[in-house]
Amino acid sequence: MLKNPNHQDPQRILETVFGFDAFRPGQLSVIQHILERTHVLAVMPTGSGKSLCYQIPALATRQRAVVVSPLVALMDDQVLALHALGVGAQRIHSNRTRAENVDAWRQFQNKTATLLYLSPEALMQHRMLAALQRLEVDLFVIDEAHCVSKWGPSFRPDYEDLSRLSELFPDTVIAAFTATADKATRSDIVEKLTQGNAITIVQGFDRPNLNLAVLPKTDWKKQLLEFLEDKRASAGIVYCLSRKETERVAALMVEHHFNAIAYHAGQDNNLRKINQDRFMTEPGAVMAATIAFGMGIDKPDIRFVVHTSLPGNMETYYQEIGRAGRDGAPAETLVLYGLNDLYQRRRFIQQDGEDKDHQFREHKRLDALLAYCEASSCRRKTLLSYFGDDSNDCGNCDNCLNPPRLIDGTNAATMLIASVHQTGQSFGQAHVIDVIRGANTQKILERGHHEIESFGAGQEYSKAFWQQFLRQLLSAGHLTVNIERYGRIEITATGFGLLREETTFEYQAIREPTESKTPMSGKVPRGDSGMPATADDQALLADLKAKRLALATAQGVPAFVVFSDATLIDMVNQKPQTREDFAQINGVGPKKLAQYSDAFLALLTSASS
Ligand code: ADP
Ligand code: ZN
Repeated sequence: MLKNPNHQDPQRILETVFGFDAFRPGQLSVIQHILERTHVLAVMPTGSGKSLCYQIPALATRQRAVVVSPLVALMDDQVLALHALGVGAQRIHSNRTRAENVDAWRQFQNKTATLLYLSPEALMQHRMLAALQRLEVDLFVIDEAHCVSKWGPSFRPDYEDLSRLSELFPDTVIAAFTATADKATRSDIVEKLTQGNAITIVQGFDRPNLNLAVLPKTDWKKQLLEFLEDKRASAGIVYCLSRKETERVAALMVEHHFNAIAYHAGQDNNLRKINQDRFMTEPGAVMAATIAFGMGIDKPDIRFVVHTSLPGNMETYYQEIGRAGRDGAPAETLVLYGLNDLYQRRRFIQQDGEDKDHQFREHKRLDALLAYCEASSCRRKTLLSYFGDDSNDCGNCDNCLNPPRLIDGTNAATMLIASVHQTGQSFGQAHVIDVIRGANTQKILERGHHEIESFGAGQEYSKAFWQQFLRQLLSAGHLTVNIERYGRIEITATGFGLLREETTFEYQAIREPTESKTPMSGKVPRGDSGMPATADDQALLADLKAKRLALATAQGVPAFVVFSDATLIDMVNQKPQTREDFAQINGVGPKKLAQYSDAFLALLTSASS
């Protein structure tokens, strides 16, 4: 039995409040479950539109919903964005004054605001719980629900406390959301939050608007600047491995006149907050950041994410690139990686505690990422299959757009493996490459390695060639790095197979950075999100963005609160001339129609005359 069957139609709310025509995959099913009053765990990728999945039920029933969110900044953004749509929502947290919090509570009490955002610790206080029990709370939303689980990547004790909710509020629906949870984590979340009584909905991991690319790192500065060349006006994140590197990368970009900012955990809270605010509000801001930056960054118009070195594993990589293009418009991603990154990552794992099983699993996860980086076929297919999704070639990754040339490298491979073998599998890559190139080093003379058969056998190839070639042999699993033994290179069973010439080995021709660059105007599978192709349309888009910025600045809100990039692109494509036309644009609801249509129509009508 439905407790409240008289709710409004979700589709109507989608159109009239949010101004969107259609639900994205998965959204409606989550909404329906909540409206049918079943507990749900929704596992949906970043950018798939999770917020709507609980905002719409709350609006449809006009009942109270409490939203638990881990980050203050995130709550503020969500509430601001809802206000911009004319939706009553409030938040209570420690960064607000007492008067503000009291006012927020009053609004929730009298249902002026039916959505209340709270931090987990604010919610689980005795007084708050008691007060909520006296009101009728229809729905608890647990955002970033993976924080409940010790299995997940970011366990938080204050989240674990949320497991008391289902007993304290037996009549309230619980809807949990996360973008990252493997099977074990999912069932742990369901167990903890709903004592096993939730339906789990997993929405596909595909993000077709993200272009995927990986390049071997040759000259990172040059490669980064080339990538950024056509992205001057766009917001983006450049992920770096260390704090120092974020400063270096930001300085490089500033030197080349980008609006670049550094962000890392070593900065004091105040500076971090200022930097984050700049990123959220300033046009074309690029953040050079460690992985400390990102969780809860609710900026839908991030147009690119770069990794200047190998990410930690597939999960974190997917999460980090997932921050780009949440508005559905095209966005580009790039990983630059080199052999040293790989060593460093292996070392990080080795230094992380004593648990051997854990380390073994982490090495395996890193292996999967390596295989992705070295893939010669569609990257999206590799990425999605890691998360258990099937797919076809995507047409929007470097390998699809510009298939790599595969060359038979059996000869060179046996040569290299032989030199590893003949030096007793006791040396790191630098020495092995010196031997094969016939270098004249102290170490070679001391060990007598100038007398072995493979000495100088590969001298016709450069050092850079051998480094990249070795990396490909490593990621194909024919050689491994033994981090516990100072990074020495060892031969695997399949490597010995190659040495005995039982198998062959193909390697990817070294790709030049410019070759694999794909313009943003390239083909994007999602038809409605293409960037404008003509110069006139691009100029119009720039004017619309300038108008948006002016309006946002005047109101002291981030630009996307006015309109998302996807909405502006839709304006350029549709060129509405009247208010009626304007109302049809994706992302234009009644409130924004009233507030902004005149300002934007002025630009759109003059562009067409
Ligand atoms: P998530 O929390 O899953 O990362 P958000 O809820 O922040 O994603 O949504 C990402 C962006 O997608 C937002 O700009 C939102 O307005 C937009 N969006 C959500 N649902 C739809 C939809 N059905 N149609 C168009 N845009 C949508
Ligand atoms: Zn592809």
